[in-house]
Amino acid sequence: MAQNIIDGKAVAARCNADTARDIAGLQARGITPGLAVILLGENPASQAYVRNKDRTCRELGMHSRKIELPATTPQSELLRLIGELNADPSIHGILVQSPCPDHIDEAAVVRAIDPRKDVDGFHPLNVAALAMDDPSALVPCTPLGCLELLRAYDIPTRGAHAVVVGRSLIVGKPMALLLLAKGTDATVTVAHSRTENLAEITKTADIVIAAVGRPKFLGAEHIRDGAVVLDVGINRIEDPSAPQGSRLVGDVDFEAVAAKCRAITPVPGGVGPMTIAMLMRNTVRACRALNGEK
Ligand code: NAP
Repeated sequence: MAQNIIDGKAVAARCNADTARDIAGLQARGITPGLAVILLGENPASQAYVRNKDRTCRELGMHSRKIELPATTPQSELLRLIGELNADPSIHGILVQSPCPDHIDEAAVVRAIDPRKDVDGFHPLNVAALAMDDPSALVPCTPLGCLELLRAYDIPTRGAHAVVVGRSLIVGKPMALLLLAKGTDATVTVAHSRTENLAEITKTADIVIAAVGRPKFLGAEHIRDGAVVLDVGINRIEDPSAPQGSRLVGDVDFEAVAAKCRAITPVPGGVGPMTIAMLMRNTVRACRALNGEK
């Protein structure tokens, strides 16, 4: 791997090894962290994510409940199930795999999850806690993973100009808050689809976080020499030369940008593995807190 390529798989493996040790410590005291993942419907990408979460849970010694329901499951049934999981002492983390079918009100579903078990960090109480620099906040896994990558590679954030492209609740907004938090101390700009002169803004960034959902959207004209680029995007594009006729690419044109970067994440193998690693860590944190531990 070229020297400036951030190896998300390796960092995630180290994080997971730490989490497995934490789990072993909890188990020695008779506590097994448990994660419940609910999937509605048969979206193949979502099925793959859920399988991966379930497998990683088991590998690390955690209790995993994978609950697959038909896409037609009524919202009332989903809320009833969440209520059951909220009350289940063997479950410390609950997540509903996004995207949900159209008839499901995802905001209502998130609000129904006990905020102490909201390992995705999407509940309004956790969003508020993050905005308030409250260390007890459960923080969304993908931005948390990005921050962990910056730390793992000793990339300084204090006083650095970070440009986050994307303002979703899942990635862009919590990423901006994490970078802005006391201790991380970046100067943060958030760009979105109405931003004018995007390249002029991203060109001034020491750190660019791309969370747009458009294949190879950021090119060489967006990135200055020596910048650090974290590519959150996961986009499937057609590629007749690939075994399945398609392949995954990020929101950054990796081939055009990589050589000029101080450091850059590949897709796949960059931010993706960190998201699951942070989900595992969040579940252990939630388990500790629910058991009255720090
Ligand atoms: P999202 O909810 O669709 O948000 C995309 C953001 O990009 C929006 O804020 C949108 O602006 C902005 N945007 C769209 N077009 C733009 C443009 N031309 N210029 C500037 N900004 C633009 O997506 P998301 O959930 O944040 O996910 C983003 C990407 O990350 C997707 O590829 C997703 O698959 C991937 N993802 C990866 C992981 C992982 O584990 N690696 C986790 C989550 C998501 P507006 O708000 O103005 O519409």
